[in-house]
Amino acid sequence: MREASELSTLAIREASYAAAAGEGAARVMLRCATLAKITDKPGQILRTFVSPAMNEVHRTMRPWMEAAGMAVGMDRAGNLRGVYPADADADMPRLLIGSHLDTVPNAGAYDGVLGVLMGLALVESLAGRTPGFAIEVIGFSDEEGTRFGAPFLGSRAVVGELQGALLQRIDHAGATVGEALREFGAAHTDAVDASLAPGSGAYLEFHIEQGPVLESRNLALGIVEGLAGQSRGNVVFRGRASHAGTTPMRLRSDALAAAAEWMTRVEAIASRFENAVATVGEIEAEPGAVNVIPGFVRCSLDVRHPEDSARDAAVRAIFDEAHVVGRRRGITVEAEQYHEHPAVRLAAEIVAMAERAAKRAGYATIRMTSGAGHDAMVMAPHLPSAMIFLRNPGGISHHPDESVAEQDMAAGLHAGLCFLDEYAAWIGKKEGGQHA
Ligand SMILES: [Zn+2]
Repeated sequence: MREASELSTLAIREASYAAAAGEGAARVMLRCATLAKITDKPGQILRTFVSPAMNEVHRTMRPWMEAAGMAVGMDRAGNLRGVYPADADADMPRLLIGSHLDTVPNAGAYDGVLGVLMGLALVESLAGRTPGFAIEVIGFSDEEGTRFGAPFLGSRAVVGELQGALLQRIDHAGATVGEALREFGAAHTDAVDASLAPGSGAYLEFHIEQGPVLESRNLALGIVEGLAGQSRGNVVFRGRASHAGTTPMRLRSDALAAAAEWMTRVEAIASRFENAVATVGEIEAEPGAVNVIPGFVRCSLDVRHPEDSARDAAVRAIFDEAHVVGRRRGITVEAEQYHEHPAVRLAAEIVAMAERAAKRAGYATIRMTSGAGHDAMVMAPHLPSAMIFLRNPGGISHHPDESVAEQDMAAGLHAGLCFLDEYAAWIGKKEGGQHA
């Protein structure tokens, strides 16, 4: 039973959360606009792994983080990390809040940076008060994989997976990941280690939804309970290139016509599997002339599903269909999957805490599976993780028209403040359990 005085203190604090969240949201909005001006390519937003623009983002964010009372450093993977300390005598597991600072080419102003700035705004809302545990805000150096064609370099470093062949990948200028990091000053001896601090307790990521679901449901916030698994592959169709004017229709082996027929089947097959999405996003046709029948076509394939077995079945059905179309048309088909990432389920306890936090803040939510990959996907196997999605007007992301409403940022921050209370109670219970 809570004492009446304790209850009223709680009520006052929760009322102050709404006000703090409103002020924080205004700052997040302004800062997103400030960071959107920092780019590697004038005329559009582009920030890649350890690029000059990334360096300027760090120089811009450091004073903000330091003013909030955080000790700020860059780790060996170029991640910007700020730690808001716990009480000197508190030895509670720290809470990590993060997302990424890099972008795709011609990006919007919110994908990634929003989650880092929300973490910072939550720390600022504490106004020097300690919640009894440390909070680490992380701005990952790479999530999109724009520079090196391999995603999640920042978070993979934190969980100890940035090593070996990954460090040897080269960018368009011929620099390796390792060389790029040294040039950025990240491999400097003063740099802190990229690994997780011992005693890290959980990871929370705020992110723009990058889809239309929350808007269609008229909700500000969504609780992510899992991230879809993903398969990537290539399907190659080999026919016979020949003259477009002299080869009768019945004597052709048109690789592109076969690919086109298969592509409409990809759409149909994916629709048969509930919650599956499948996309052919790239076509290469050779020789590629207006008056030559295409003899060679390569199509990319991207398939995602919350359940790995269903994704495997969809990929198999799509590949089988390519062979069926090829046999009927006398076209040779080669299909291969070259990349696969299993589906990730987020930690049920932390997801429930995020859900309760949003409810306490006064926001109805739905549970969602993210079709996009996020840093939480890499963190989740190593640290109990949750994600909170913010409504994305028009579902437009990876595009300059991407937007987030300030009031939805306030909703996220209010839920975030309540999440800090949930987290304090959770680690308190865990510690209590350990000592019992
Ligand atoms: Zn993102």
